Amino acid sequence: MSTMDACVLEEWNGPLSIDTVDEPEPGPGEVRVDVRACGVTRTIENAIGGGLSDDPALTPRIPGHEFAGVVDAVGEGVDGLEPGDRVLAYFYLTCGDCAPCRRGEANRCTAFDGWYGVHRDGAYAEKAVLPAENALPLPGGATFAEGAIAADGLATPLHVCRRAAVDDTDTVLVIGAAGRVGVHLSQLAARRGARVLAADVVDDRLEHVDAVTDGAVQPVDVRGDPDDVARRVRKAAGGERNGPSVVVDTVGDVETLRAGWDALAMGGRVVSLTTHHERAFGPLLREFVEKEAAVLGSRYATKNEVVRAAELLADGRISPVVTERVGLEDVPDVHERIRSGESHGMVVLEP
Ligand SMILES: [Zn+2]
Repeated sequence: MSTMDACVLEEWNGPLSIDTVDEPEPGPGEVRVDVRACGVTRTIENAIGGGLSDDPALTPRIPGHEFAGVVDAVGEGVDGLEPGDRVLAYFYLTCGDCAPCRRGEANRCTAFDGWYGVHRDGAYAEKAVLPAENALPLPGGATFAEGAIAADGLATPLHVCRRAAVDDTDTVLVIGAAGRVGVHLSQLAARRGARVLAADVVDDRLEHVDAVTDGAVQPVDVRGDPDDVARRVRKAAGGERNGPSVVVDTVGDVETLRAGWDALAMGGRVVSLTTHHERAFGPLLREFVEKEAAVLGSRYATKNEVVRAAELLADGRISPVVTERVGLEDVPDVHERIRSGESHGMVVLEP
């Protein structure tokens, strides 16, 4: 059996190490993919820390789910995929058979079976085995790095924009605008004609958002007392009474979210993307009524949205934000930097 290099996690919240392991073989209904690009991101850092599952039976584990590559072997019973096909990965392990799956809403699968890279080995490796259902076609013209971004970093914002029905009448406050989801969401909302207010905790990270949106976004400082923050956000949105109509929280800081809620315009929508286990946000019931406001959760993306995200990148409607390209041996170090808050945009592993 041949071997390969992989970045392995021995236990949840433990260190990552580079090991030589057996190359995985695709079982029935699975394909093996030669990994060409995989995002090294905060979502994966959260998974490594045990934020999605901390079941010891699932380790040792090869993390990594935001990837694209080329099919190099096909298991028994796989139709429609063959060696040489360019694919990108779908993050959720779903049944393909429940009512939501059948109507194309795999992100709402009622027999959800876990996360790729958490409940089975992922793509921090030279090769990765993927259920054929999770191998989506990478559109011609999209690079592998673009596929890796589309897989989550842009697919998630596409879903958010649909959940909140973002259009040219909206002013969208993006909390955590310099992260990979934030930076692509800011671009996408601006593309849809919305005004975009970009908030992050570090000023120089916002310059980077500015660069990829051609100045279409306006920075807003969300540090400090929540009442002051709410005032500043309303002012940035155009007036004391007229706040943002959409607030998207990619961070999960409850005080900032509260300030965004307080600043919200009439008919506004707050969208939560964070999955912190113990943070709660509970406005008074009358506050929902007074502004006819809504709080929405946004759960990853559909398979169709993942492919559409890759199409947006393939034909240049959205600019991919790759801040660094690294090899497998650099991955543990990148995770250290993500943990210490130094990273922004998206680091791409090219094994
Ligand atoms: Zn299902």
